[in-house]
Order: sequence, then C-alpha cells, then structure tokens
Amino acid sequence: DDPGNVKVVVRCRAFLKRERDKGTQCLIRMEPATEKTTLLAPYDLDLANSHRGRVYEDKEFIFDKSFWSHDVADPHYAHQEDVYRSFGEEFLDHNFDGYHTCIFAYGQTGSGKSYTMMGTPEQPGLIPRTCEELFERIQQDPTPNTTYHVHVSYFEVYNEHVRDLLVPRTNPPIYLKIRESQTDGVYVQGLTEAEVKNYADVERLMKMGDMTRTTASTKMNDTSSRSHAVFTIQLKQIQHSLLSDQTIERCARMRLVDLAGSERAKSTEATGQRLKEGGQINKSLTTLGRVIAALADPRRHHKGRRHRDVVPYRDSVLTWLLKDSLGGNSKTAMVACIAPSDYEETLSTLRYADQAKRIRTRASVNQDCMS
Ligand code: ADP
Ligand code: MG
Repeated sequence: DDPGNVKVVVRCRAFLKRERDKGTQCLIRMEPATEKTTLLAPYDLDLANSHRGRVYEDKEFIFDKSFWSHDVADPHYAHQEDVYRSFGEEFLDHNFDGYHTCIFAYGQTGSGKSYTMMGTPEQPGLIPRTCEELFERIQQDPTPNTTYHVHVSYFEVYNEHVRDLLVPRTNPPIYLKIRESQTDGVYVQGLTEAEVKNYADVERLMKMGDMTRTTASTKMNDTSSRSHAVFTIQLKQIQHSLLSDQTIERCARMRLVDLAGSERAKSTEATGQRLKEGGQINKSLTTLGRVIAALADPRRHHKGRRHRDVVPYRDSVLTWLLKDSLGGNSKTAMVACIAPSDYEETLSTLRYADQAKRIRTRASVNQDCMS
C-alpha cells in the first residue's frame, strides 16, 4: 500500500470578455514561490452592499500547486502544458506502475473545469494530453515482451442517472444501472468500453462523447453545468518474462472527472428552500461534499472509532461510483477552478479544496502473477 493525501491544486482563469469590458476587479493573488493563494476582499461597494451583513476580508490558502492562468503576459502564467507537466504526467507514471488514479475538477460554472480537463482543439487539456502521451509511451516501449490493451469509456451522471456518452442519444433516454461485485467493485452495467489502438481512436471517442453531451444541453437547458462527466481509461499491461516464464498482468484505471458546477451544491441547508429549488439541487454534488467532509474528519483515524462506516458513499450515484477514487485504492488529485472576481463562490471552492487536502487514500499496485 502507498498511503498519501489527495493532491489539491488551484487554477485561476483569465477574465472573460464581458468581465474585462466591465473593468472587473481581480480578487485573486498567487505567490508562485509559496503556492499561496489569496482571496481579496472586494473594494466594489455595490458588490459589498448587495451582500449586507457579510464580512469581507482577505483569506489565504496554501495548496500543493497554484496555477496562475489569469494573465498571459505574466511570466508565471500557467499554460495547459504547464498544468499537464506539473501533475498529469506524474499521474500517468503511476498508471504505468499499476496504480489507479483519479483527477477531478471542481468549481462553479464558468470557472474553467472543462477547459482544464478537456480544453479546446488549439489548447488541449489534461484528458487529451494524457491519452496522447499514453500512446507515445506504448509506442516507444523498447521491450518486446509487453503487450498493452487500452479501453476507454465516457459517461455522465445527470439527475442521478448514468448515461453512456459513447452511444447516440435515444428518446426516451437509456439509463444504465450501477452494480457492485466482489471482483470488479462498483461498475456501470452495459457501459461501452471501447478498445483503442492509438490516439486517433481516443480523439474520435472524446469528440463523440462531447457532442452527445452538448447536443442534449441545447435542449435541456445547460446540461453541462448540472451533469458530471467521467472519462475513464483502462490500461492493461501484460508482461511475459522468458527468464522465469512468468506472466505479470497490471491493470490500472484512470478517471478524469469534470464535475457539475459547484453552485449546484448550495441550496438547502441554509435556506430550507428544498422544495422550491428542488430541480436545482444536485444530489451527487451535495453528497460528494458530505463524503469529503467525512473523509477529512481527523477523528476518522482515531483508534476505536468507527468513522469509516459513516462515509455516505452510497447516498448518491457519483460518490458510489467514485468510492475507490475518493477514499480507497487510488492516487487522487483535485483541481479547484476559480473565477477571478466572484468572492462568495471562490471562497466556497477554496474551503472545499482545503478540506480535500486532508483526505488520505491507500493506493496499491494492481498486479497479478501467473506462471
Ligand atoms: P466550466 O467548465 O467550469 O463551466 P469552462 O471550462 O467552460 O468552465 O470555462 C469558461 C470559459 O472560460 C470558456 O470560454 C473557457 O474557454 C474560458 N477559460 C477557462 N479557463 C481558461 C484559461 N485557463 N485560459 C483561457 N481561457 C479559459
Ligand atoms: Mg464545463
């Protein structure tokens, strides 16, 4: 076992055109030397008055890495490539070593989650970079005795239903069931697991999945802010040693998760407006918050207590499916994406991320030996 904390990084995006046009104040400072991120109290009195009663003050946080993607002219500007080199690459190393990994992006709608995970054709994000390098490594492997099998799946969790993004939409939609077994753990029954031979194969599937996701969103009013998209790569390495006549099989799974907008988790506790906002609440997201809070609870590691039992994984589809990635056999990272000028939402995201730093997982190499 290799126990370790969830790696937590934060990334601040640039102003969008409409923000720049309004002369919006940037509320984020990052210090590259210390990885410190500061959220500044807004000086805009209109904004402060609109939240009467709220005390605004500067808040400081330290994460494993702070990505300053706000100002391209800044020498510390973090490009897509920098984000990938800083931990995407390391996570791919773990996969080749046989560990499961998970990277998930958290943040309000419009904070840069999809940009970070998928990116654009000109500025590819973590998912395409990981896949491209995966095949580069496979193709460059000089040892003739290893064979590789790669499979890809892509699904979304929308309104507590799982939908396969690699099959065309149907009407009525097809919802897949979640199952749990001794050998396979938790899995989605009937999910397409497409074999891919090269990066072009993956690229085709990514495009198809994203199309399926957005075609629906024009009809269903902003699906992508309400749905969680989970892209999974399975890497199987079969190594045959002529010397010992042994076959070693390593299976690693990498999950890359673009979560629903974090504003969907707000709701109910404070205002009791559950019924009124019923359509807006995202059960998977609120449960994820409770799971993270339970896992981050320091009492969990005390002897004699059974806090482990109270982690509410099964209360939502997403947390059940990501159970291993969150507190189990996985090396896991969270990218907290923040917009530069939203005090309330950014504070909530940074606090969430701060809590996630305390989660420990126990990854072990997934390997079988056969003689
Ligand atoms: P989310 O998925 O969190 O809702 P998006 O990834 O769609 O947000 O980002 C919102 C907008 O901001 C998009 O137009 C995206 O291209 C842009 N954007 C986000 N992050 C960056 C960045 N680091 N650099 C440049 N543009 C970005
Ligand atoms: Mg998005």
